[in-house]
Amino acid sequence: MHKIITNLNSIKEELKTKIVDYDKLNVIAVSKTFSLNQIQPLIDHGHLHYGENKVQEALEKWSEIKKINNDIKLHMIGKLQSNKVKFAVKLFDYIHSVDSEKLANKIASEEIKIGRKLKIFAQVNIGEEQQKSGINKNEIKDLILFCKDIKLDLIGLMCIPPDYKDPTNYFKEMSEINRSFGFSDLSMGMSSDYLNAAVNSATYLRIGSGIFGPRD
Ligand SMILES: *Cc1c(COP(=O)(O)O)cnc(C)c1O
Repeated sequence: MHKIITNLNSIKEELKTKIVDYDKLNVIAVSKTFSLNQIQPLIDHGHLHYGENKVQEALEKWSEIKKINNDIKLHMIGKLQSNKVKFAVKLFDYIHSVDSEKLANKIASEEIKIGRKLKIFAQVNIGEEQQKSGINKNEIKDLILFCKDIKLDLIGLMCIPPDYKDPTNYFKEMSEINRSFGFSDLSMGMSSDYLNAAVNSATYLRIGSGIFGPRD
């Protein structure tokens, strides 16, 4: 069996034995920087959720394959520039990185234009780091209300906790905030901390190197 399939299977096995709500978990294979050739074995294996962080790269890799495989779900997990929203709304099924009313508005109007509805996460800068994207904690409520007003299908919150720190408390805090707004989906956890995130009620795990191996 191909190495990346073995990797994915052992991650899923681990989650299955340790997470009670395993059935609610979705593993997004983060395929950024990997070529379609490298991803193909996982597609052939039947895996459906893939994550990319650049619109241009995603367009080149996924436009054709998504036409012939309707079940594939593509997740935009990186920062989304206003001028790329048009292309993103056509291609992606989920956007995890909504962090302003301006971006939310742009997405909503593109959705209406082409009659397509994406699932949306609002990104929270849970570590309140200057260099990180995402809204601050005190802005969450306003953004959620705004998204509801403009009829975005907001399904939960997303975060990338600070590097090189124990993420446990950030995950716990995200889980509480997410629940307080009545969301049942939560996007958090990467290769180094997906189990911790899943224990703290993440439902979408974004796993790249743990499946595909190290990126250059
Ligand atoms: C690259 C990336 C991931 C995956 O990171 P790995 O450490 O390779 O699992 C997850 N989330 C976001 C937002 C990313 O940009």
